[in-house]
Amino acid sequence: MSVSPNSKILVGLGVGTVAGLGMAGWTDDTVTVDWIVTYLAEPAGQIFLRLLLMVVIPLVFSTLILGVSSIGNLERLGRLSFKTMLLFLGMTLTSSVLGLIVGNVVRPGAGISVELRETLLATFSTQAESVVKAAGSDFGISTFINLVPRNPLAAAVDGDLIAFIVFTLVFALALTRLSETQAKPVLNVLDGIARTTMVMIGFAMKLAPIGVAGFAFAVTVRLGLDILVPLGLYCGAVLVGLVLYQFGVLAGLVKILGKLSPVEFYQKIRLPMLTAFATSSSSATLPTTVQAAEKELGIPRKVSGFVLPLGATLHMNGTAFFIPITLLFLAQAFGVPVSLGTQVMIAALTVLTAVSAAGIPMGAIPLIVVILESIGVPGESIALIFGVEAILGMARTSTNVTGDLVVALAISQDELIVEV
Ligand code: ASP
Repeated sequence: MSVSPNSKILVGLGVGTVAGLGMAGWTDDTVTVDWIVTYLAEPAGQIFLRLLLMVVIPLVFSTLILGVSSIGNLERLGRLSFKTMLLFLGMTLTSSVLGLIVGNVVRPGAGISVELRETLLATFSTQAESVVKAAGSDFGISTFINLVPRNPLAAAVDGDLIAFIVFTLVFALALTRLSETQAKPVLNVLDGIARTTMVMIGFAMKLAPIGVAGFAFAVTVRLGLDILVPLGLYCGAVLVGLVLYQFGVLAGLVKILGKLSPVEFYQKIRLPMLTAFATSSSSATLPTTVQAAEKELGIPRKVSGFVLPLGATLHMNGTAFFIPITLLFLAQAFGVPVSLGTQVMIAALTVLTAVSAAGIPMGAIPLIVVILESIGVPGESIALIFGVEAILGMARTSTNVTGDLVVALAISQDELIVEV
């Protein structure tokens, strides 16, 4: 009997989690635990993550250009871009408002004692300092200027995916200006590259169960239950909220806009959901997202090739839900009042942050520090969530990726865009 790749990954997740929690409860020998994490679990996870990440640049370049050029005319491209951005922004704003509501109703930071606050601040102060330093500049005009890369290769090397996408889009637009005979050889090469990347993803996925087990072990063995319990209300608000959002709001959109049964949808996208959960990275998940969209959901390449690379960097529903809850949690824990006006500002800044966060593990965290400081909460307070960030990052990334697939599915229903 052959076991499906999804089941193998689930087994990897289960084995890693049980082993991690078991080891955490069974031994206090931190030297051995550190050794296993550093030399076995982390390398297995990191190699899997890198095998996926190394496919991202050629994948984005080829699928985006093939997507844009197969759309055919500028009018249709305009319609596709408009609809995509409208859905991205609408869904991101909805998530951020939902996050604000949950943060106000649950008030997860209200019960945090001063002792616990000080202990957490002291425990994670080193990590917090480096994130606060990385947070650096504010949003400003340079944020927009930097969208246009000076050098596309440098953008690719630095992992500046948004800038690289801007270059690729301009390249794709220029290519549509060439005659068919002139464009054909370029498109043939890109088609070959796109197909090759799909095979490479297949190689990476062979390692998935082991990589996923490694990640799960590294997260759970370090997840102190002594931290999880006092932060239970905060974690619960984020995790339960994300699950309800994922299987409530998104499932509704799948039914209404995507005209598909949510059960079937979730069955078909199990692989990217699991990959996102295991890697905490929308970018690393992109290869499996594109594959599931095209092969499982039957979304045409002109839609998936356009929506998904953009979605992996610009569209983060889970992150937009998580940010306001976290901001309110920290403000409550530090006794900083948050007025209604500030909450409106938080909703707007959350959308901006979710759009600009990188699709990597902890991608949103430095940006959250910027907002914290602008609402009068110390940036270092981010230390309070570090003990549980790994698990929250996994859950929100899985929601982010599902959101991208929902948008791609919804757009694939638009006959004016999809017709040949
Ligand atoms: N890890 C998230 C992603 O890749 C970004 C974040 O919320 O930190 O989608």
